Amino acid sequence: MSSTLVTGIAELVTWDDEQPVRTDAALVVEGDRIAWTGPAHAAPATDTAVDVGGRAVLPGWVDSHSHLVFAGDRAAEFEARMTGTPYAAGGIRTTVAATRAATDEQLTSRVAALVAEMRRQGTTTVEIKSGYGLTVRDEARSLAIARQFTQETTFLGAHVVPAGPDGSPGDPAAYVELVTGPMLAAAAPHARWIDAFCEEGAFDADQARAVLAAGAAVGLRGRLHANQLTYGDGVLLACELGLTAVDHCTYLTDADVAALADSGTVATLLPGVEFSTRQPYPDARRLLDAGVRVALASDCNPGSSFTSSLPFCVALAVREMGMTPAEAVHAATAGGADALDRDDVGRLTVGARADLVVLDAPSHRHLAYRPGVPLVSATWVGGRPVT
Ligand SMILES: [Zn+2]
Repeated sequence: MSSTLVTGIAELVTWDDEQPVRTDAALVVEGDRIAWTGPAHAAPATDTAVDVGGRAVLPGWVDSHSHLVFAGDRAAEFEARMTGTPYAAGGIRTTVAATRAATDEQLTSRVAALVAEMRRQGTTTVEIKSGYGLTVRDEARSLAIARQFTQETTFLGAHVVPAGPDGSPGDPAAYVELVTGPMLAAAAPHARWIDAFCEEGAFDADQARAVLAAGAAVGLRGRLHANQLTYGDGVLLACELGLTAVDHCTYLTDADVAALADSGTVATLLPGVEFSTRQPYPDARRLLDAGVRVALASDCNPGSSFTSSLPFCVALAVREMGMTPAEAVHAATAGGADALDRDDVGRLTVGARADLVVLDAPSHRHLAYRPGVPLVSATWVGGRPVT
């Protein structure tokens, strides 16, 4: 197996316990893994070497929440919202109609383009949900398409109750029966996770509980969308069930925060949503101070957050949510890995995958300090540059 020394690293972020951020560093890649990290002067001999010229090297972003399988866009809805129309969960139905009408090839090439866009911005692991099909056929094919791009696929049949064939409001109880029965059976072979949108206008806590239980019975791990638009029972449900992650967490009571800290369930914050819906941001400082494990993700989707950029989310988290630059970078790398129950990504420790980002800057601080600037100069996946 050939080894490569990466030198000229002004700042190396590894998240190892001893020295999580090191200046004047080097690292060794062997095959697709990290074999060594340390001070530049102590680097071992290797087959080849790459000099990154005084740049910072970070773990690749682990984007633990995205909805990339869809057709169409909702730019007009976004424009209307910016001039005063509030966001509501039902807008999802517009994307559902477009997604059902699209061919497999159209959906696949859209996902490929978005994943490439993510790569260019430093994302090396991405979770992708279904949830714009909402029929047995369309949920299963959405997940089969997502699986071509990642192992981290999530069945989100319980995204919203679809309208009936005549356009009438759907029947929530009958739809939950479908999601937990034939739709789950068709989706499960292509999914690692199961998710539900527990929110007013989507699914209540009892319905979400039924969906998660059905998924668990066929071996899917649970995660949940909760407490995005208002206070609700979703976060407490996620903690009670010991889910890996609960996502959004914008409206939290003290009891919600205490339950998150006790359970170890990761709170995934999605500030692209608050930016794009002009809602108040979640209070990351309150969560971190309480000892809650926090992740940052893009929630890339055509309705409420059509950004694929974790550098943008890091800048928002620092500017608007009370995180330090290091906390925000940690949440978007190691935090994202925690939210996917992965210990081989999101950190550059010995034995981890050599998935990394080279910044056109000397420090991770520049991600928030220079917002909107394309600072990712290279993305490496499995030990080699892919951009
Ligand atoms: Zn989402």
